[in-house]
Amino acid sequence: MSKSKESLNPFEVAQKQIERAGTKLNLDPGMLEVLKYARRELTVHFPVKMDDGRVRVFTGYRVQYNDAIGPFKGGIRYHWKVSLDEVRALASWMTWKCAVMGIPYGGAKGGVICNPKEMSRSELERMTRRYASEISIIIGPEKDILAPDVYTDSQTMAWIMDTISMNKGFAVPGVVTGKPLVIGGSLGRDEATSRGLMYAVREAAKKVGLDLKGATVAVQGFGNVGYNFARLIHDEAGAKVVAASDSKGGIVSEKGFDPKEVFVFKEKTGTVMGFPGTRKVTNEEILEVEVDVLAPCALEGVITEANAPRIKAKIVGEGANGPTTPEADDVLFKRDVLVIPDILANGGGVTVSYFEWVQNLSEFFWTKQEVDQKLEHQMVNAFKAVWEMHDAKKVDMRQAAYIVAISKVVDAYKWRGIYP
Ligand code: NAD
Repeated sequence: MSKSKESLNPFEVAQKQIERAGTKLNLDPGMLEVLKYARRELTVHFPVKMDDGRVRVFTGYRVQYNDAIGPFKGGIRYHWKVSLDEVRALASWMTWKCAVMGIPYGGAKGGVICNPKEMSRSELERMTRRYASEISIIIGPEKDILAPDVYTDSQTMAWIMDTISMNKGFAVPGVVTGKPLVIGGSLGRDEATSRGLMYAVREAAKKVGLDLKGATVAVQGFGNVGYNFARLIHDEAGAKVVAASDSKGGIVSEKGFDPKEVFVFKEKTGTVMGFPGTRKVTNEEILEVEVDVLAPCALEGVITEANAPRIKAKIVGEGANGPTTPEADDVLFKRDVLVIPDILANGGGVTVSYFEWVQNLSEFFWTKQEVDQKLEHQMVNAFKAVWEMHDAKKVDMRQAAYIVAISKVVDAYKWRGIYP
């Protein structure tokens, strides 16, 4: 299989990342095999009554990748391109993300093949409730905790929480995170991924001697992660956001702009394009703008072997999951671009999800300030551990993050043993 084809299958990319780190760790071949496969994979085909009275059968998955460290944890994705291999890859990444962030969870992921943009709210509710029922045999606060991902949100989580609770006969808030506040959500969860990303970029800036005050920033994607990151790095770190984009295209202004004003503009017009005082660029061009910090916060596989030589940023902070291909990683490492890998850079989201679950189990809720402080502590420590590994082993930050994460999971196996 050619290199470029290899990059297309996310599960093969995920397995390759494990092999790379496993080689550096001199892992026993048997243990490497254990880490390359999911523990449990559930496929469900289930009927849903559509609004016009017809019955449609949907296919969904829940992949429980690894629970050596703690209960399974991971989001649910609704998308027409969901596949078992994609869910496996995302579940594998969740395992390493939780381990590198120092959270006592394993990794899982789920998905339903559907086009949520073409479904009514009541169809989405019936599909969500039936999917939750189908996978209810393997999920629960002590087993596997769900969360939102692409095209699922706090409403989806509320329906899942209610479905599981109705079947149990009492409220079970701890089965999902990312819930609305009134049914046990956590303050700060909405912006947690972006806030964590800002802390990671701040730590990276210290390492490369970059003052974030006045540093220039480009953000690809202006959704939950991208917009909140642009806002926080502008408002709290004093950086100059000079480029942003959404699915329709991007904008650039050397003078910089206030992301909050761009957000209001996008709410009115449906896109960031055309924001006064900026010029238009494509989503490919935005990655190559002359900036200090580049934050890909939209899709997988956007930084490739082809455009990596033209990236001008000193720091790449991966808000999105999997935006850089393994081939591009090698190019950026040789060019001294500091890439903060996804499993570390966007780990703030699952960290505050963990905080939400802890608050649910203890039935005691924290202030926003407490959440932010604990998140900062977790991000700074995780960054430090990865940086030290990168320094010690002379590998890029992604390999360092995998080495840190895989070492922890292997250590868990050493204590627990291979059953029986
Ligand atoms: P979102 O749906 O809120 O936003 C996605 C943004 O990307 C939108 O602005 C959309 O217009 C834009 N986009 C879509 N196609 C694009 C394209 N071709 N080029 C440029 N922009 C495009 O999603 P989100 O929650 O912000 O997630 C973004 C990424 O971050 C995903 O990879 C997701 O897995 C990852 N992530 C999210 C969280 C979280 O807490 N939300 C946590 C960890 C990782």
